[in-house]
Amino acid sequence: MDDCLFCRIARNEIPAHVVYEDDEILAFLDLHPIRPGHSLVIPKQHHVWFEDLPPDLAARITTCAQQLARHMKRIYRVERVGFFYTGIHVPHAHAHVVPMHHNHDVSSQAYLLDGAGGFSAPPQLPAEENRRIAQDLSAAFA
Ligand SMILES: [Zn+2]
Repeated sequence: MDDCLFCRIARNEIPAHVVYEDDEILAFLDLHPIRPGHSLVIPKQHHVWFEDLPPDLAARITTCAQQLARHMKRIYRVERVGFFYTGIHVPHAHAHVVPMHHNHDVSSQAYLLDGAGGFSAPPQLPAEENRRIAQDLSAAFA
């Protein structure tokens, strides 16, 4: 998939604020975070749907998200972290990991501005802030 956005990020052809990387998976900041720290975890190999991921690969993504979530709870002082696949936007399986400051963060008006049938992306953060956030989160894997 030469023109897939997330394959290109996985190949380092497009920059991202990387939080974690190994030979099979990559975690980086969502460009339109619901909350600061909102990260995406993707397989480097192209799969459209999460249900088609080989079990070992799916487990690596989940394990990475668990590690991130534990860290997010500490640094953002949140009680819960959302973890979900939606299949929306980029046709390359990606898991969202979102520090939840409010129970409705992952179903909020900010994320669903046009109502449940529509979709508006939350605003982007300045690059400098993203650099700092990515650095804070990558400490989970140090
Ligand atoms: Zn892809």
